[in-house]
Amino acid sequence: MTGKLNLNLNLGAGVEPMLESGIDSAARPDVENVIILGSGPAGWAGAIYTARANLRPLLITGNEIGGQIATTTEVENYPGFPDGVTGPELSERMQAQAERFGATVELDFVTAVDVNGPPFTVETANGKRYRANALIITTGASPRKLGVPGEDRLIGRGVSYCATCDGFFFRNRQLVVVGGGDSSLQESLFLTKFASKVTIVHRRDQLRAGPALQRRADANPKIEYIWNTVVTNVSGENKVEAVTLKNVQTGEERQFPTDGVFVYIGHLPNNAPIAGKLAMDEHGYLITDKLMRTSVPGIFAAGEIQDSRFRQVATSTGQGVAAAMEVEKYLAEMEDHAYLQRQEPALDRATA
Ligand SMILES: Cc1cc2nc3c(=O)[nH]c(=O)nc-3n(C[C@H](O)[C@H](O)[C@H](O)COP(=O)(O)OP(=O)(O)OC[C@H]3O[C@@H](n4cnc5c(N)ncnc54)[C@H](O)[C@@H]3O)c2cc1C
Repeated sequence: MTGKLNLNLNLGAGVEPMLESGIDSAARPDVENVIILGSGPAGWAGAIYTARANLRPLLITGNEIGGQIATTTEVENYPGFPDGVTGPELSERMQAQAERFGATVELDFVTAVDVNGPPFTVETANGKRYRANALIITTGASPRKLGVPGEDRLIGRGVSYCATCDGFFFRNRQLVVVGGGDSSLQESLFLTKFASKVTIVHRRDQLRAGPALQRRADANPKIEYIWNTVVTNVSGENKVEAVTLKNVQTGEERQFPTDGVFVYIGHLPNNAPIAGKLAMDEHGYLITDKLMRTSVPGIFAAGEIQDSRFRQVATSTGQGVAAAMEVEKYLAEMEDHAYLQRQEPALDRATA
């Protein structure tokens, strides 16, 4: 830990939480306590908790305000919403809660992070440069898309990237799953709880998934395969009605009626500003420990940028909360350290 501490803490006993806006967000300190990168569920959760700890967090939204969940119409599995909630509303509510407690939100995109610190330096697309004693990286991941006509238009209307999220909406329906890896098979098996039939479309003539999963899928009467085939179009007026399938060997195309398309061809972690600077796994996800710490002390990460397994709003917010609580402890320890450093010369003089 360096001696260059410039903490902006306000943790004195009896300090009232900042309940309403009116906090002077324009007057930013030279060095922020904490900057949160990303405005998905993990980012908002981190902002709510660090704001309620009076750390005056600065959150930089990225280009997709609200993150992945803001792109979906119906969220039925986030606790506390028995009648469901739309993705945009859920994310707006999280933002309002963070701002109510004093989080400052910047509509900007982080282009570079200097991890030599604290303080760490964050540069943005709008040409701003911030410094902070702690960072929470919540830049998430993006599902790899098919990139075919109709896909974007029908997201949430039959096109999905998450069986856990959307499988429930497809009771007794026929579904197409695209992909041949472990997640494609796992999600296909999950979808058979609801769907009457699941057709796995794979561009090769064999799967990449592990043998145990393949055996389970082969034994499931609801699952069938179409090999050597890609989806070239998704069609339907207001919801998915069919996909166009192209055989990659013969070039032949045909219409294939379906009620939904689940795409499992991988996720891409949004790691550009920190690539090569923090420890990552072979797929580019940040490696964190149980306390959401990355390989650099003072830099924490939460949500899908470090979690390729659960991929849920509830798990991402939980991780955001954990990261925020650890940031609070980390900054308090910095403050203690700085206090002791200030005391040492006086003690030395007293004992001399
Ligand atoms: C269509 C769809 C439907 C879904 N439905 C459900 C559901 O019903 N229930 C459920 O629990 N989960 C659902 N999910 C999954 C859920 O949305 C994710 O698990 C969750 O959003 C992950 O949160 P996150 O905060 O980790 O990351 P993300 O949501 O991916 O957010 C990442 C944020 O980081 C920002 N960012 C990226 N790069 C930068 C940068 N360089 N600088 C600054 N900011 C940056 C992005 O703009 C974004 O705001 C769904 C996902 C999709 C795609």
